[in-house]
Amino acid sequence: MTENSGPVLIVGGGIGGLAAALALAQKGCPVQLLEQALEFNEVGAGIQLGPNVFRMFEVLGLTDAVSGYAVFPENLIMLDAITGEEVTRVPLGEGFRAKFKYPYALIYRPDLLNVLLEACRKVDLIRLDTSQKVVAVEQHADDVTVRTEAGRTYTGAALIGADGLWSTIRQIVVGDGKPQVAGHITYRAVLPTTEVPEHLRRWSMTFWAGEKVHFVIYPLRGGELYNLVAVFHSNRYEEGWDSFGDPAELHERFAKTCEPVRTLLGKIESWRMWVLCDRPPIKDWSRGRITLLGDAAHPMLQYLAQGACMAIEDAVCLANRVEETQRNFPAAFAAYQQARYLRTGRVQIMARVYGEFYHASGVARELRNLMLGARTPEQAFEAMEWLYGEDFGPTGYGRVFQSSDVSAP
Ligand SMILES: Cc1cc2nc3c(=O)[nH]c(=O)nc-3n(C[C@H](O)[C@H](O)[C@H](O)COP(=O)(O)OP(=O)(O)OC[C@H]3O[C@@H](n4cnc5c(N)ncnc54)[C@H](O)[C@@H]3O)c2cc1C
Repeated sequence: MTENSGPVLIVGGGIGGLAAALALAQKGCPVQLLEQALEFNEVGAGIQLGPNVFRMFEVLGLTDAVSGYAVFPENLIMLDAITGEEVTRVPLGEGFRAKFKYPYALIYRPDLLNVLLEACRKVDLIRLDTSQKVVAVEQHADDVTVRTEAGRTYTGAALIGADGLWSTIRQIVVGDGKPQVAGHITYRAVLPTTEVPEHLRRWSMTFWAGEKVHFVIYPLRGGELYNLVAVFHSNRYEEGWDSFGDPAELHERFAKTCEPVRTLLGKIESWRMWVLCDRPPIKDWSRGRITLLGDAAHPMLQYLAQGACMAIEDAVCLANRVEETQRNFPAAFAAYQQARYLRTGRVQIMARVYGEFYHASGVARELRNLMLGARTPEQAFEAMEWLYGEDFGPTGYGRVFQSSDVSAP
């Protein structure tokens, strides 16, 4: 295969695409990123960041910038949505940080995207073009060419599809059709703190788990805002993304929940709705000089709050493989997916399991509350080790990163 010093083309300028651009440029690799939207944009909602992604922020030199916008909650608190009783709380202070070396954080999505965007804009090796929706791809022996809807063509040494759940590039590489509709609907909204009743303002990630529903609230932006997420089961929707929801259905689904949940639901007039989708894990998402990253490669339900974290881990891992193979892209992409597929597959599978767990009914709900209620913080930390720990768990698919992926540069 001939060496090609052209840029890496990245399709998609979400969290994953921008993280990949930055990670590759930090390894000296030129990047041309193509985003279909008029401008770089994220949903006006919150996102949770586990300690595993802070390890990546350190590699990317973003820890201070992210921390400047983040809220560091005191606890993860789970309550029963019907009785209102607390089931369990995981303290996120000193013990958690001592265990995982990095914090747990909550951040407003546009702030996280802007941190990545600003970092990319400071690097000469990165070119960012908006209004460029990629519609066609051709792979040759030593380069890749894409055509955009606007009629432009771009040629690069390799291509990364970071184009999300509905990825066009995945259909070229994997060709497995539409993602699977989970039958779970999410409504999201953000409230100014002044509109959240004082007794419900907690410096914590708080959620109520009910029968086929759950409700989440947490502070953002130094406590200026609260992020609200309501999830329920429904087979009424086939597919969809980011449309306005029907509050009547929302209130009907949460009718059996306790007072704090219904009070908070009542505060929101306009909710945005997502029909949740994922895919079963696969182990091969590369073809020669083309690979996938983030939701395009391994879309997952949100129940472990890890989709964006996994995309950023992908970016760091991929850039390291590109460096190690001296830009032999087919070899780098094969090594990258080999390093990633068990970890991301495990998160995809466990996210589904957690979805069932949070929405349990009857005996399963009682058992869940008993089991979680009996856990000590140390036992809770042990259960999180595979996801947040430095070695990514002692389970056999342990150290899926090489040491160069996780140490500071
Ligand atoms: C309700 C909910 C809550 C969540 N909570 C969390 C959480 O707490 N923590 C967490 O880590 N994750 C969370 N996630 C998951 C997280 O949002 C996603 O995994 C993450 O945003 C995926 O990033 P991405 O860059 O891979 O894809 P996307 O963010 O979807 O970005 C893809 C980009 O590609 C562009 N694009 C698409 N097609 C083309 C094309 N043909 N040409 C050019 N550009 C194109 C799009 O415009 C978009 O900008 C949550 C998800 C949901 C739905």
